[in-house]
Amino acid sequence: MNAPADLSEDTKPAIDLEGATPVMAQYIQTKAQYPDAILMFRMGDFYELFFEDAVTAAQALSLALTKRGKYKDEDIPLAGVPAHAVDAYIAKLIRLGHRVAVCDQLEDPAEAKKRGYKAVVKRGVVRVVTPGTLTEDSLLEARGANRLVALSARGGVMALASVELSTGDVECLEIEPESLSAHLSALRPSESLVADRILQDENLYGLLKVLGGVIQPQPGSLSDPQAGEARLLKLYGVQTLDGFGAFSQCEISALGMLAAYIDLTQAGKRPVLKPPVRVLQTHCLSIDAATRNSLEIDRTQQGKREGSLISALDCTVTSGGGRLLLARLSRPLFDPEDINARLDTVEWLLPRRDVRDELRHLMRSLSDPARALSRLSLGRGGPRDLCILHQALSIAENLAHLLNDATQSAGIDPAVPAEIDRYINTLVPSDDLSRMRDRLIRALVDEPALSLKDGGFIREGFHPGLDEARTLRDDSRQIILALEARLQAETGIAIRIKYNNVLGYFIELSQKLAEQLQAQDTAKQFIHRQSLANQVRFVTTELVDLDARIQRAAAQALSLEMEIFEDLREDVRAMAGEIQAAHDAISSLDVATANAHLAEDTDAVRPRIDHSTRLEISRGRHPVVAAVLKSQGKPFTPNDVDLDATGADAARLSLVTGPNMAGKSTYLRQNALLIIMAQAGLFVPAKSMHLGVVDRLFSRVGAGDDLAQGRSTFMMEMVETAAILSQASDKSFVILDEIGRGTATYDGLAIAWACAEDLHERIRCRALFATHYHELSQLEKRMKAVNNISLQAREHNGELIFLHEARAGAADRSYGVQVARLAGMPTGVVERARDILQRLEEDNQTKLRLDDLPLFSFERAPKPVSAGPSKVETMLKSISPDELSPKEALEVIYNLHKLLM
Ligand code: ATP
Repeated sequence: MNAPADLSEDTKPAIDLEGATPVMAQYIQTKAQYPDAILMFRMGDFYELFFEDAVTAAQALSLALTKRGKYKDEDIPLAGVPAHAVDAYIAKLIRLGHRVAVCDQLEDPAEAKKRGYKAVVKRGVVRVVTPGTLTEDSLLEARGANRLVALSARGGVMALASVELSTGDVECLEIEPESLSAHLSALRPSESLVADRILQDENLYGLLKVLGGVIQPQPGSLSDPQAGEARLLKLYGVQTLDGFGAFSQCEISALGMLAAYIDLTQAGKRPVLKPPVRVLQTHCLSIDAATRNSLEIDRTQQGKREGSLISALDCTVTSGGGRLLLARLSRPLFDPEDINARLDTVEWLLPRRDVRDELRHLMRSLSDPARALSRLSLGRGGPRDLCILHQALSIAENLAHLLNDATQSAGIDPAVPAEIDRYINTLVPSDDLSRMRDRLIRALVDEPALSLKDGGFIREGFHPGLDEARTLRDDSRQIILALEARLQAETGIAIRIKYNNVLGYFIELSQKLAEQLQAQDTAKQFIHRQSLANQVRFVTTELVDLDARIQRAAAQALSLEMEIFEDLREDVRAMAGEIQAAHDAISSLDVATANAHLAEDTDAVRPRIDHSTRLEISRGRHPVVAAVLKSQGKPFTPNDVDLDATGADAARLSLVTGPNMAGKSTYLRQNALLIIMAQAGLFVPAKSMHLGVVDRLFSRVGAGDDLAQGRSTFMMEMVETAAILSQASDKSFVILDEIGRGTATYDGLAIAWACAEDLHERIRCRALFATHYHELSQLEKRMKAVNNISLQAREHNGELIFLHEARAGAADRSYGVQVARLAGMPTGVVERARDILQRLEEDNQTKLRLDDLPLFSFERAPKPVSAGPSKVETMLKSISPDELSPKEALEVIYNLHKLLM
């Protein structure tokens, strides 16, 4: 579908319209084109909903459900919302997972009347609002991304493409099916387009249902790469995609699905999109959904932002900066060079406090130019969006000057990071861009109204034609006043000239004065127009002429303003790429400045990042727990970690024991979070950190039931642990908390033992393994690269004191009963537990002795544990040879070959 369809005139699909009024026939035809959306049908000052849509909306929006007219002898259900408040209603419907088609009046009702008394106003769908294609600030979170993704599968590989319409960011990547969860959870889509065929896979459907937002099944024809390429060329207005880089057939297929959906939902309007960025899997730290959830990166397990990593770290002052920080934490980097480039910038800014403060002060006044630009490109923006843009460009230039001065002044360190130079170059506008900005400044009044319709947003003196029309309009008003005065003088009657939309200008007199006027009007100058209960209305020929002149001048002024607006909008569109680049540079600068600001506040340091196999942190702190404790005036105990995957300089697996509440989980999470921060290019709260980059991060820290998928807590724990053991590599970092605790002691101990052994012997990655099975601490003696760490607590006068300090060595006991008492367990129960514990400990029969367990006397065979089918096997299994074109078959061979490298 392209331009808004005018359905009143020619298009008449084969739909039964018999007995329908002309407007209802128009409605039924429109609805037939959008059967899956709720249709909001503009009628005057209201958007009306009919039939099923009325029933659904009335329930969802608490609207009164009434009826209007009949169709096929049945009442037509009706509900309506006032046009001025429609955004709020749409937002609610979207949040409930609906799609909404907005059908507007495409002409003035007066125009329709000219075609005949019964002519129907032209109407057409101007957009379909869906969760992934929102652009209105009122419907979006300022600091959250709102992504639409498309998933395709061809020739044994999968590709994910994503677009954020409100900022123009587009990216795509090829993925292995088992990493879909990691990628989807990093993107957190609001809506996913998935080919019907893929949805038939139950596992995939289950995953998409949880991580994909609202799922929109797409017919197979939309995922065809050739058609997809044609749609992309049209969307970007280019002849070839070569300038954007090389994309696989699968990526083109996913990008093509996005293009088709944008065309459909935006009714043919082309948003300004950045060229698609090809993300390479190997360039990112992969974090799967369960790990992301347990580490509470962008929200807590309760779904709140407060208490998450992002909320503790986000000191950015712009919405774009907030979104970029979130994106960086959601998908940290892998290449030390890229990471160090970000860290160089923070390091350069850190000692330059005055510069930072000034930069932040300037950036604070920035609105959200990326979203303003997107609205303008989709024909939704208003004059205020243009103002946001010229203000942003001025701020960008000032930022560039500030940075430039800072690089010139005798510096603390003369080396200026490449990123800072890049910011300066990008933020200084080109001649064309400054011309465009200056034109916007000259054209727009300082504080224009939000809406276009009211006019008055173009500055006086900008356009001679507009000034002339305005003068005429305003002078004519003066002439009306003069005419009123003259008529008063001529008649001796207190004549009042008034205005309304129906009559235009008219003279209004009371009944008594009207009679007096008519009696003395021998020349029949006053023509009677209307009699009300107490008033009589007249016009004169002169007044009618004047009225027409005023109307024409006002209409001309408004239409000239609209023309100028369109012209400015085109100017902006032509410069969209440069505006977006400047905005991206501001967002990056904001993230770097904010991190330097936080680093100063929290004594954070630059991590040393390389390709080694080390993880060495001295006096590290949990960024969220430490911040919470600080706000309560309590200290956080810093802790060290030292691991080496090769086992050459340190253990690769640390077994962490300690009493309940001693801080084991905090310690595990803290080290994982510091890795995320470091690889996102941020300074870390520690005295020092040395990190050999991690390819995948895994965390299994306390899972809940997943009753929706019919999995118990223990089952979930096993599913997640299995995923870790089959996916982790020697470059990964794994934290496992109390594996095996949810089953009988022997089973649990056996599972924990086997997992620790597999991590150490086969996977050989860096790992922290917290456990209450103190028996496991003996592994230190049996395995070369295992050591014991314990979180300290002390008993003093019967009171348990937690030191939260990680020290070498194993803990001796759990202090579970003492913790139960601290938790307010009834005294009787605590006393009874103490008794039982004492007896159990005394009873040699029941006490677990490690060497008695068959498990521990068993010598492990050197055979590696099988980790399931290989990647090559998985890929081969997913291919349907009959569906492959020769080109795709060749691509499969290349992909298979790549897997062996
Ligand atoms: P359990 O074995 O019962 O699950 P745990 O050993 O995993 O307990 P945590 O949940 O990590 O203990 O920590 C308990 C509480 O101790 C935290 O909520 C936090 O307030 C505090 N705590 C943990 N680590 C530290 C620390 N290093 N410094 C200060 N307080 C800490």
